[in-house]
Amino acid sequence: MTRYLPYGDMEKLLSLSKRRGFVFQSSEIYGGLSSTWDYGPLGVELKRNVKEAWWRSVVVSRDDVVGLDAAILMQRQVWEASGHLENFSDPLVECKNCHIRLREDQIETTVCPECSGELTEPRNFNLMFKTFQGPVEETASEIFLRPETAQGIFVNFNNVLNSARKKLPFGIAQIGKSFRNEITPGNFTFRTREFEQMEIEFFVAPGEDDAWLQSWLNERFAWYLHYGIREDNLRIRRHDDSELAHYAKETYDIEYRFPWGWGELEGIANRTDFDLKQHAETSGTDISYFDEATKSRFVPYVIEPSGGVDRATLAFWLDAYDEEPDGESIRTILKFHRHLAPVTVAILPLSKNEKLVPLTQAIQDKLKFRFKCQYDDSQSIGRRYRRQDEIGTPFCITIDFDSLDDGQVTIRERDSMHQSRVPIETLVAVIEDKMEHNW
Ligand code: ATP
Repeated sequence: MTRYLPYGDMEKLLSLSKRRGFVFQSSEIYGGLSSTWDYGPLGVELKRNVKEAWWRSVVVSRDDVVGLDAAILMQRQVWEASGHLENFSDPLVECKNCHIRLREDQIETTVCPECSGELTEPRNFNLMFKTFQGPVEETASEIFLRPETAQGIFVNFNNVLNSARKKLPFGIAQIGKSFRNEITPGNFTFRTREFEQMEIEFFVAPGEDDAWLQSWLNERFAWYLHYGIREDNLRIRRHDDSELAHYAKETYDIEYRFPWGWGELEGIANRTDFDLKQHAETSGTDISYFDEATKSRFVPYVIEPSGGVDRATLAFWLDAYDEEPDGESIRTILKFHRHLAPVTVAILPLSKNEKLVPLTQAIQDKLKFRFKCQYDDSQSIGRRYRRQDEIGTPFCITIDFDSLDDGQVTIRERDSMHQSRVPIETLVAVIEDKMEHNW
């Protein structure tokens, strides 16, 4: 497939986003809540497809990973054991002049980058959101919104092991919201205070951890490529010792070339046996694994591929954005992988003529439970094709007056703009085949 723009342009994407209904400012009619976003009709489909593609790849298609959906609210002790109460903080400084708050590790100067004012001494700011369980707002009822989904997996290790009857190596995968009271959120949906994560905790025997880390790194890198990110815009970066989290032995980030620079999409970490040991010790519960083959009991090591749903969605979206020369004008296209596109099939009767209505309706009924469809009968067919290109719809079905006689419709493909006539009775099979085999 030919691509014209080497990478996405944020301004163009934002304008398309608002115009076509991908992402809106949260609480907009009240002036908005900063760095908080709502996914609109197209954005929600795109994000659901990203999650579905991930789930298919790491759960459905493997027999060594099972799913979980743990609660956002957890016992306070979970965060004591995991180290989040003590360590999950960023160094916060404030300008004494303009009072802007900044992350000390993200600024290069010793004075305020906005007004050159003097900065306060850094203090550790815990990023966890607090709330109260029950009607009394006192310390005893204080709980936290989870800052990562991972801990819900660790505390369910015994439950899953005993019920799913898994043997090592095996993993538990989860998609869900996490919350971090980030000091400097920004760059659209890249860094927000409420976001979704897709995480796997993959448990292995100690000694097999290094090989599994490499295996997951390769697997996850290939997933981003498979779903359309260009290799030039993707890279792997190894954490040096100063960057490693307190629990990690080795970590790699998969990074994407965002319009403002390289940014993390996913971290793949060797968390060792840190988390399971911490929870065993704090809860007083035995959390370990008995290996039948070697007749030995041990605490598994864990490899964690941890990605952000919102960041992956944004990267797929930015990378898909393209503008093609089209005679005197420009054709804007979102070149989404067909499984990620918010709409799969556009149903376009050539005109609003009543004679086309029953057949169009019948075709829509045939397709709507299998594919995400969108019906559009306003303006010229050329303009309707352009509208579908702009939101990335891979297939347009046009029903014309010949269709009434020959029982065929035109199927038009987004990238090649190739058109062919297809018998209506084979339409579902033809689209399914294209979904399976085409890019
Ligand atoms: P960063 O260094 O960008 O703050 P992180 O290393 O703290 O990220 P992790 O704790 O490894 O992030 O979280 C795993 C994934 O969750 C990240 O790779 C990212 O995709 C996503 N994520 C983390 N924080 C945010 C956030 N504030 N907004 C959106 N996604 C996030």
